[in-house]
Amino acid sequence: MPKEILEMSVETVTTELPDTKTIRLKWPDGHNPEFKTGQFITVYWPDTPNYKRAYSLSSCVLDRGFYEVTVKRDGKMGTRLVDWVKTGDKLFVIPPVGKFLPVYEPNKHLICVAGGSGVTPFRAYAREATRRSLPTKITVLYSVRQPKDIIFNSEFLELEKANPFFKFLVTCTRPQPTDNWTGRVGRIDAAWIKQFVTDLPNTVFYACGPNPLVEFAEALVFELGATKEQMKTEKWG
Ligand SMILES: Cc1cc2nc3c(=O)[nH]c(=O)nc-3n(C[C@H](O)[C@H](O)[C@H](O)COP(=O)(O)OP(=O)(O)OC[C@H]3O[C@@H](n4cnc5c(N)ncnc54)[C@H](O)[C@@H]3O)c2cc1C
Repeated sequence: MPKEILEMSVETVTTELPDTKTIRLKWPDGHNPEFKTGQFITVYWPDTPNYKRAYSLSSCVLDRGFYEVTVKRDGKMGTRLVDWVKTGDKLFVIPPVGKFLPVYEPNKHLICVAGGSGVTPFRAYAREATRRSLPTKITVLYSVRQPKDIIFNSEFLELEKANPFFKFLVTCTRPQPTDNWTGRVGRIDAAWIKQFVTDLPNTVFYACGPNPLVEFAEALVFELGATKEQMKTEKWG
């Protein structure tokens, strides 16, 4: 049976960064869908039903009663959402689909490569694993220009404290002297990823975001000797 498209109300809008907002869409009463952490929904405004866009869920399957998506101001839909969406607005939602799913097996290590807004589904991965106290290792390697561009910084740091199997590492490509950044500087490269690979056959790599970033990450991972089956990607276009 095809899944039903539902109209949902915007319950909250949270500003993560000046150009990035998390939009919480409230499920209608009695709605209790099955879906998986890491999937994406497709949304459209009631006045433009032919203009639909996909957004990865930044909430996880244990978050019930709503979906959350985290949107960057970019292009037509991204700009309309970030600049205009407000509490009480209605959006149509095509239910979650997608195969960008965390492999929550005890002996696996999930290495998640992200740049900019591509980190959004990894918040969901880390949330679910932490709340379920799963022993799956998850390492997020996150590239941003400056420290002020890190999305979900405080939540990732809290998850890191709560979950001994979760690591959140940031590299800044263009930190300014006033940032007082003491972490890694430079782009994500094969040598950096390699530092975290202790058992290649049991490592699963993930990359999400704009196509150039995902393709770049794919090339680095294959350089390390990983197979296609070990590389999961979500290309945003
Ligand atoms: C599975 C999936 C999940 C996604 N998840 C997320 C998510 O979690 N968060 C998120 O923010 N986005 C996500 N996206 C991207 C999202 O669907 C939209 O594509 C994005 O918000 C941009 O809106 P748009 O497609 O209407 O942009 P469009 O207006 O169609 O523009 C598309 C791209 O072209 C660029 N562009 C437009 N006009 C010009 C021009 N004249 N010159 C140069 N460049 C131009 C825009 O900057 C943009 O990057 C996801 C995409 C997919 C496929």
